[in-house]
Amino acid sequence: MTTTRALGRSIHPQLDHDYLRLVSGSGAYVTDSDGRTYLDAVAGIGVLALGYGRDDLIAAAAEQARRIPFVHSMRFMNEPSERLAAQLAAFAPPGLHWTFFCSGGSEATESAVKLVRQYWLDRGLPSKWKIIGRRPSFHGNTLTALAVGYHAARRKRYQPYLVDMPHLAAPWVYRCTEHGPDGPYCDVCSGRALATLIEAEGPETVAAFIAEPIVGAAAPGITPPPGYYETIREVCDRYDVLFVSDEVICGVGRTGRNFGIEHWDAIPDVMLLAKGIAAGYAPLAAVMAHDRVVDILLSGSGQYEHNFTMAGNPVSCAVGSAVIAAIEAEGIVPRVASLESTYFGGLERLRRHAFVGDIRGRGLLAGVEFVVPGGREPFSPGLGVTDRVVAAARDNGLLVYACPGIVDGARGDSIMMLPPLTMSVAEIAELVDRLDRAFEMVGPSLPGS
Ligand code: PMP
Repeated sequence: MTTTRALGRSIHPQLDHDYLRLVSGSGAYVTDSDGRTYLDAVAGIGVLALGYGRDDLIAAAAEQARRIPFVHSMRFMNEPSERLAAQLAAFAPPGLHWTFFCSGGSEATESAVKLVRQYWLDRGLPSKWKIIGRRPSFHGNTLTALAVGYHAARRKRYQPYLVDMPHLAAPWVYRCTEHGPDGPYCDVCSGRALATLIEAEGPETVAAFIAEPIVGAAAPGITPPPGYYETIREVCDRYDVLFVSDEVICGVGRTGRNFGIEHWDAIPDVMLLAKGIAAGYAPLAAVMAHDRVVDILLSGSGQYEHNFTMAGNPVSCAVGSAVIAAIEAEGIVPRVASLESTYFGGLERLRRHAFVGDIRGRGLLAGVEFVVPGGREPFSPGLGVTDRVVAAARDNGLLVYACPGIVDGARGDSIMMLPPLTMSVAEIAELVDRLDRAFEMVGPSLPGS
């Protein structure tokens, strides 16, 4: 769809395209400017964790704006950010008691890199600067976040600006040719390969390892096997490397635990939060740090030379505080855990479509990967399979998230679903039915069908 250019227009990735205009929402549904309603199976993009139209969250923002809408966190403290830091310390794995607030996931990644850097400076080991990421992964669109992550399509234009960081292959069990789905797992899928990479880089140069517990946009739903993060934790300890868990998608209940990493027995040194933490009612993100990290800063320089103007603003933090309170009062996390079997049980039925290669994830985070029927070969990118699926879903009143190019930046079609955590069983059934109809519209015309 193209349109004549109006004077004054907001910039979106496809400059000349008229995207759907979403004008209102209620629960798990959104309505566009033509009055069409969609089941929002991506909750914005994993953001509207408690759905649309939450009066308690609207009130939290309004009340705080009336009292004091802005406080500059570089020079002052404010009550909502201290309250939320205390709530998060109780909600997070043991020892993660310190929080730096910011406004989005990319800011959180940048802030974590600086925190890690300060840690090594205060340990007297300035040669440790490299952040090992995974391939594929996504930690944000700012330049350091693009550099530590590996989302080939989002990186390629900006290569000259990207610091060269090492990347460890992700434990993509479905595409691993060394073993079957149940192991015994190879060095990559077990996490052991991190030790080899640290050795190759020189442990004295490696500051941290960063991973999304379960991969999001870069290859949705890749879930490491049991034991993976236990091995990662052990390797990080052995080589004196910090472990950063990017919980921007997985955190705050999305996977059926408070944080995605809690599916494994491994406590990170640093965690990144965003998306669901203020449930879409205000921009908010956070970096949480373990006492063992901050104690080094406290007994060293005592400083964290970093801030953003909007960091820790009281309105966003008041909303975040209300979100954590609601998640606990409404038992959202155990609810997600109990919905997992209904959700994935429903999605599994979609394997009847021959172009569905893999369905994976945890809790209410799901990825579906499409392949040429009969094997694991990705479709030719020119077929636009991901876009066709997303358009067919939309035609069936369902919003899902397009993740093309997951295999090498061009090939590899997939979609991600991150519905509101408040979704009913009936709405989950509807999600699956609408997706089933969308697949029915696309599948038969694809090669190999
Ligand atoms: N980390 C992960 C895992 C993400 O999925 C994203 C965004 N999709 C980011 C970081 C960056 O967050 P933001 O877009 O809020 O900057």
